[in-house]
Amino acid sequence: MVLSDRLLLGPGPSNPYPEVATAFARPLLGHLDPEFLRLLDDTAARLRLVFGTDNELTLPVSGTGSAGMEACFVNLVEPGDTVIVGVNGVFGERMCEVARRSGAEVVRVEAPWGRALDPQRLLDAQRADPGARLVAVVHAETSTGVENEIAPLAALQDTETFLLVDTVTSLAGIPVAVDEWGIDACYSGTQKCLSVPPGLAPLTFSARAVERIRKRSTPPQSWYLDLGLIGDYVGSARKYHHTAPIAMIFALHAGLGAVLDEGLEAAWARHRRVGERLQRELVERGYELVAQEGHRLPQLTSVALADGVDDAGTRRALLERYGIEIGGGLGELAGKAWRIGLMGHSARDRSVTTLLGALDELAAA
Ligand SMILES: *Cc1c(COP(=O)(O)O)cnc(C)c1O
Repeated sequence: MVLSDRLLLGPGPSNPYPEVATAFARPLLGHLDPEFLRLLDDTAARLRLVFGTDNELTLPVSGTGSAGMEACFVNLVEPGDTVIVGVNGVFGERMCEVARRSGAEVVRVEAPWGRALDPQRLLDAQRADPGARLVAVVHAETSTGVENEIAPLAALQDTETFLLVDTVTSLAGIPVAVDEWGIDACYSGTQKCLSVPPGLAPLTFSARAVERIRKRSTPPQSWYLDLGLIGDYVGSARKYHHTAPIAMIFALHAGLGAVLDEGLEAAWARHRRVGERLQRELVERGYELVAQEGHRLPQLTSVALADGVDDAGTRRALLERYGIEIGGGLGELAGKAWRIGLMGHSARDRSVTTLLGALDELAAA
């Protein structure tokens, strides 16, 4: 079977960095081999730099970004806890569902799709319910291309309520500052701006979040995602829990290396510059952007489709004639929008030039 080489400009996965592709080819090590454990420690150290944290409990959870989401909720929520969730897109909705399945009473703080959440309304909801276990927010809402502001939520540090943030699409694409923003629990995914294939969920927990797991009256509902047990392998005890996805960790280590060699700030600046160029040139061509101005993610552009645009036909032509993948709309934007990712190694001028050139050719045909 012949498979194609694509330019991946959807909402994930992005094209892996070249260093990541070669990391998969290296011979395997055992998951308890001292050399592998050194590499695992170094991966955690690199994750701390990218997350902007000194948190000891920082590790790649086995599974995609959604496994990171589930790990956060099942470890921090006990049945009957109140969880306040910001909802302005599909991934905020998914947080509500995962929180509910973890036994939480969910309080929603909403904003219309395409608009950012008001952090003050999240703080007000917590003040109205000071016993709430968590305030949970998606930093980069991939279904709409909106950035939700996290920094003002640092005020939660002075309360009993923890701050949980989804950085699946933001990490390594735009600034994330876990310690400065007082984030207690943060998860991400490898397949977006880290430019590693899907399969791991980087995660970090503050000291008080770790303490909270220790003080649970019942163990987390998930055995596989129990961070107390996983911590005994990733931490100094090195106790077997489940076999680490070794080749994925080689790849993540290499992807983090590519990001840190470029420099985090340089990588953010590259995403910003290339994303703004795409958005400017799309608007010049008459496209309308879904996300409100001032809260647009450079790494994920959601384009509202005008009446008469052949959504599926155009995306199929991009894929079949030009080898370019972009994403369709999700949830209430299904059939009404495209989602164009410029993430990690895909966030290059050549991607913008190629995509716009292809769209121009298709429009002229
Ligand atoms: C992609 C994404 C997820 C889920 O990640 P998977 O790798 O698909 O499991 C969660 N949250 C956000 C904001 C995402 O963009």
